Amino acid sequence: MQIDLVTVADELGPAKVLFVREPGVGMEGVVVVDNIACGPSIGGVRMAPDIDAVEVFRLARAMTLKNAAAGLPHGGGKAGIAADPTCSPERKQALVRAFARAIADLRDYIPGPDMGTNEQCMAWVHDEIGRAVGLPRVVGGIPLDDIGATGVGVAVAADACAELLGLELDGARVAVQGFGAVGIHAARCLAERGARLVAASDSHGAIENGHGLDVAALTAHKHAGRAVAEFEGGQVIERDAVVGVECDVWIPAARPDVITEANVAQLRASFILQGANIPITEGAERILHQRGVWSIPDFIANAGGVICAATEYAGGGQQQALDAIAEKIGGNTREVIERARRDDVLPREAAQTMARARVSEAMGYRRP
Ligand code: NAD
Repeated sequence: MQIDLVTVADELGPAKVLFVREPGVGMEGVVVVDNIACGPSIGGVRMAPDIDAVEVFRLARAMTLKNAAAGLPHGGGKAGIAADPTCSPERKQALVRAFARAIADLRDYIPGPDMGTNEQCMAWVHDEIGRAVGLPRVVGGIPLDDIGATGVGVAVAADACAELLGLELDGARVAVQGFGAVGIHAARCLAERGARLVAASDSHGAIENGHGLDVAALTAHKHAGRAVAEFEGGQVIERDAVVGVECDVWIPAARPDVITEANVAQLRASFILQGANIPITEGAERILHQRGVWSIPDFIANAGGVICAATEYAGGGQQQALDAIAEKIGGNTREVIERARRDDVLPREAAQTMARARVSEAMGYRRP
C-alpha cells in the first residue's frame, strides 16, 4: 500500500496518512485523516482484500465534504484494513483489535463502520481505545440501520423538493434500486407521506406494481431473507429494468456508478434522491440536469448515517439524532436547491461549493 502525496494533496488535505502493521497478527492497514478544521475526523473503517491508500484518501475527502455539508463539528477521515471481511469471526476480531491498538494515539480520527465492518467491530475498537461510533445500543450506540437514519434523511430531502420544487409527495410514484437498509427506510418514510412504491430491486431481481407495492409486507419478506423478486405483490421484471420504470422519484440505494452516460436515457423520473454513494457518473448527472431532472447528491441526501453517528459521539440519543437529521438535511437540501437555481449549476457543484466554503471558513480559525 502506498500513496503519492504529490498527486493527491491539495489545499484541504490530507492532514495525516498513517500506515499501520502488526506482523504477529498479519494486520496491515492505512488511515487517512483528510481535514480536521471542523473537528476530529469521523469516517468508516473499510475491510477489503484489495483496499489501497489512494481509495482510502478519496473516501476520506468525501467524508470531509459530507461532514462539513451536514454542519457537523467533525472533519473527514477514513481507514482501510487489507483483509477478507468474510474471514472467521476469531480472525476478524484479532485484525480489528490489532488495528485499533495501532491507531490508539491518532486521536483526531474516530472510527465508524463501513463495508466489511459492523457495530460489533466498532464495539471491539471501543473496547481497545475508548473511541468509535456506530456502536451497539448496550454500549451507548444508536443502531442507525435499525432506526433507518439514512433512509429517514433521504425522505427529508424529498420534503425539501416538495417545498421548493413542487414535488407532490402524496401519490408520488417511487422506485427504489437496492431494497436494503437505506432503500427500505426511504420507501417506508415516503409511503408515510402518501407516496406509492411502484418498483423495487435487490441484487437478485426486481418487481413492479403501478398500483403500489405493500412496503411493510415487502420489508417483512426481505427481513425473512427472501429476494424481492419472490414477493407476490408485483410483476417480476429484469433487475436492471428498475432504471427505466416510469416514476416521479427514483432512489438509487445499492451500488456506485449505476447510472452512466450509457443508460441515463432510460431514466423516467423527475427527481432523483441519491441514497447510495456516487451512484451516478458526472457525465450522466450533467445530462440529467440538462433534461431538467433534479438529482440531490449523495453527500447531502444520504448524510443521515453520519449525522446519527455524530449525535451518538456527542452522547445524544435516538430522538436527538432524528431531529438533527430533519434539521440538517432539510436545511442543506433547501440551500443546495437555492444555490443551484441562483448560480445555474448542478446541485452537486452547489453542494461542493457550500461544503468547501464551510471547511475553508473553519480553516481560517486554525493557528496560522
Ligand atoms: P444494504 O446491503 O443493506 O442494502 C443494499 C441493497 O442493494 C441490498 O438489498 C442488495 O441486494 C442490493 N443490491 C446490491 N447490488 C444491487 C444491484 N446491482 N441492483 C439492485 N440492487 C442491488 O446496504 P445499505 O446500508 O442500504 O447501503 C446501500 C448504499 O447506501 C451503499 O452504497 C452505501 O455505501 C450507501 N450508504 C449507506 C448508509 C447507511 O447508513 N447504511 C449511509 C450512507 C450511504
